[in-house]
Amino acid sequence: MKHRIVVLGAGYAGAFSAGYLARQLHCDDFEITVVNAEPDFVERLRLHQLAAGRHLRHRPLAEVFAGTGIRLRLARVTSIDAEHRTVTVTDGEGIDRLEYDTLLYALGSTAADHGVPGVDEHAFHVAARPSALRLRARLDELGEDGKVLVVGGNLTAIEAATELAESRPGLRVSLATSGELGGWLGTKARRHLLRAFDRFGITIHEHTTIERVEAAAAVAADGTAFASDATVWAAGFAVHPIAAASGLEVVANGQITVDRQMRSVSHPDVYVAGDSAFVIGENGRPLPMSCASAGFTGMQATAAIIGDLTGRKIKATTLTYFGNHISLGRKDGLFQLVDGDAQSKPGALVGRSAARVKSAIVATSGWAISRPTFGKPSHKYRLATTREHSPELVAG
Ligand SMILES: Cc1cc2nc3c(=O)[nH]c(=O)nc-3n(C[C@H](O)[C@H](O)[C@H](O)COP(=O)(O)OP(=O)(O)OC[C@H]3O[C@@H](n4cnc5c(N)ncnc54)[C@H](O)[C@@H]3O)c2cc1C
Repeated sequence: MKHRIVVLGAGYAGAFSAGYLARQLHCDDFEITVVNAEPDFVERLRLHQLAAGRHLRHRPLAEVFAGTGIRLRLARVTSIDAEHRTVTVTDGEGIDRLEYDTLLYALGSTAADHGVPGVDEHAFHVAARPSALRLRARLDELGEDGKVLVVGGNLTAIEAATELAESRPGLRVSLATSGELGGWLGTKARRHLLRAFDRFGITIHEHTTIERVEAAAAVAADGTAFASDATVWAAGFAVHPIAAASGLEVVANGQITVDRQMRSVSHPDVYVAGDSAFVIGENGRPLPMSCASAGFTGMQATAAIIGDLTGRKIKATTLTYFGNHISLGRKDGLFQLVDGDAQSKPGALVGRSAARVKSAIVATSGWAISRPTFGKPSHKYRLATTREHSPELVAG
């Protein structure tokens, strides 16, 4: 019987990792199955653009994985039994149970509601395609007239507010954040950010914590009610509760705690990549949820899976956080580098050139993920007869 590797999620981390495994492992010994709820590869980096009304290219996963030997299962994961190595999924046909020998968990993240009442019922978010499409439908209803309140002061909130203001200039867009808008940015980048918000006419409410969302308003801790026809909740990401419910060790935001090889510390047959992994980076801090982190953790997880299953040494992937690219609408942007302590450097690339760099990165990552085996080294490693999980990493 073949060794069954099941990859949960075909986003930035899962699709890349499945492709890499398919190129390295012998198909007589290994069977690789990818499970994903959506039939397409969803370019999550562009979901604020989708919500604003932009068309995103369809990249059907059936085409993405065609000819790779990877089996694709379009279904929603509802639970994992990490003790008995099974995954429960549902699709149009009903409920099914998949068995695995090795699991790679890459289901990404969703919007964190922080337990704020009314977010689930009344707010919209751009962390997944269905919710981004719901927001788009609501904005279409509002037409050229309406108030949109974006809640959050970090990357997604900034990108969502500026994209909506640029694409739908009739809307009155405002943003409420518990701290300072882009407060972590260096001087140059923050100055540029505030100028862009001013140019777009976006009202900023800093030091404003939203404590309740209602159908037509969001209410702050001091009782101020902000009238809103569409409240966009962009106050951070959290991992789907599936991970915690499966018995895997997780941290407060639901991320799965892993060792340096991306193995779950509680269940070493489960490897984790992307937003779902809680791992300490080279700077001694948790790696942020980002596309770059999805790439690094995917590389490390696949190296560990190959090493553990075929007896090879596991190469270390550098887990680096180098900074953020932030789009400010279509023609403006910021590229903020950070130092070794994750503090923003004073300088930054801003304006049209930063927008071009960002646009190239988004396009390249979409292109690369939709060709998951392209350019990857090809080996046919066999399953080792004895297996052990090595704590050692060799230099990459
Ligand atoms: C609007 C927006 C803009 C962003 N911009 C940037 C940026 O500029 N730069 C950056 O670095 N990061 C950005 N991010 C963050 C980035 O998108 C994530 O860090 C990245 O997608 C993480 O990759 P992942 O593979 O872990 O998760 P994902 O890419 O989300 O992939 C998870 C996959 O799992 C599937 N899935 C989820 N739940 C289930 C389930 N129960 N059953 C089956 N399948 C399921 C999903 O359909 C998806 O295919 C942005 C995020 C958003 C929302």
